[in-house]
Amino acid sequence: MRSILVTGGAGFIGSHTCLELLKNGYYLIVIDSYINSSPKIVQRLNSLFSGSRQSFKEQFKLIKGDIRDKILLESIFKDAINNKMPIEAVIHFAGLKSVEESVFNPSLYWEVNVGGSITLLRIMEQYNCRNIVFSSSATIYNCNCKSPLSEECEIKPINTYGQTKAAVENLLFSLYKNKRMDWRIINLRYFNPVGAHSSGMIGEDPRGEINNLFPYLNRVASGAIKELRIFGNNWPTLDGTGVRDYIHIMDLANAHYLALKYLLKKKNSGFLSLNIGTGKGTSVLELIKTYEEVNSCKIPFIFVDRRPGDVAISFAKNNLATSTLGWKPKRDLSDICRDGWKWEKLNPNGYT
Ligand code: NAD
Ligand code: UDP
Repeated sequence: MRSILVTGGAGFIGSHTCLELLKNGYYLIVIDSYINSSPKIVQRLNSLFSGSRQSFKEQFKLIKGDIRDKILLESIFKDAINNKMPIEAVIHFAGLKSVEESVFNPSLYWEVNVGGSITLLRIMEQYNCRNIVFSSSATIYNCNCKSPLSEECEIKPINTYGQTKAAVENLLFSLYKNKRMDWRIINLRYFNPVGAHSSGMIGEDPRGEINNLFPYLNRVASGAIKELRIFGNNWPTLDGTGVRDYIHIMDLANAHYLALKYLLKKKNSGFLSLNIGTGKGTSVLELIKTYEEVNSCKIPFIFVDRRPGDVAISFAKNNLATSTLGWKPKRDLSDICRDGWKWEKLNPNGYT
């Protein structure tokens, strides 16, 4: 079994990716501080695990801790060697992700997202582990670029969150340039990950105020929130509402599995940035319509002013990911709406 460290593996994208990797026979060591997740994910993953010949316990270990804790990280790498399961690669999800919070608390975002990554990368160097898949984001692109956004678009983030993602990508590039070290690096630049595993057992469990459209939609459907506020109806789009590239969380999880497989097969060093999106834009009104149809429900909404910092249209050019990884999104907007609502119905209070 190949041994992989997953930072932030208890979170939304991390937990779905863990399931995909468990299914494919990897041994996972997860480190998570639970600042935006819950240890209850372990029972959920265990119950969904219908794996290989190993038991869940033989394939999955979750450690509570912070990626800024150098001593803890060292002990994780050391223990893995002592157990004859040295860590071969890292999938690095851990970090803070609220654009709004990053603007109000920039030093925290630089400390966790960049400082935490530096600590992790230093320990990886020390323990000769030089394969990494990094969670990057489409928010790093210049917001004036026209969609579909290719990996060649200018990198020019306008908020602190995006700047920390771009900074880590830059750091990774410097590591790769040092050929003596032989790093294999893939930055996955996610567009809008949404939905949940089709079982409804794991999903997105946002803490605090909800900012993103899909979890908000779920809350309106459940009646916990009275109505959806749509930020602007005068964007230069077909129906005047903002357009995004919504990708099913299990398709995103599958992209991580394929990226990891690609890295571990690769003989030489490498540095790749790949857009992970469907390549298709969907407006807010289109998403609401599909959600209502698939789930036979009504989503009350009102139009309010545009949200500061929003762009009209953002969707991916995803050819590089599809051709390099042999990856293809298999689920559509209806699957997203059905699975996302199932998670919400079964878990109105998240993991608590
Ligand atoms: P999430 O908050 O659900 O998951 C992140 C996990 O990291 C959480 O479990 C959290 O507890 C943990 N964590 C945070 N700081 C930590 C620290 N210092 N040490 C250890 N654990 C820590 O978020 P997500 O949506 O699953 O996102 C995962 C990654 O993908 C993040 O890096 C995020 O920036 C990036 N990303 C997310 C999106 C999105 O729309 N969800 C889009 C682009 C990129
Ligand atoms: N949006 C909205 N109401 C909300 C949240 C989001 O109308 O309560 C819109 C937002 O303006 C954008 C789209 O939905 O056009 C997706 O927003 P989200 O925050 O989910 O993703 P991002 O803008 O970060 O890509």
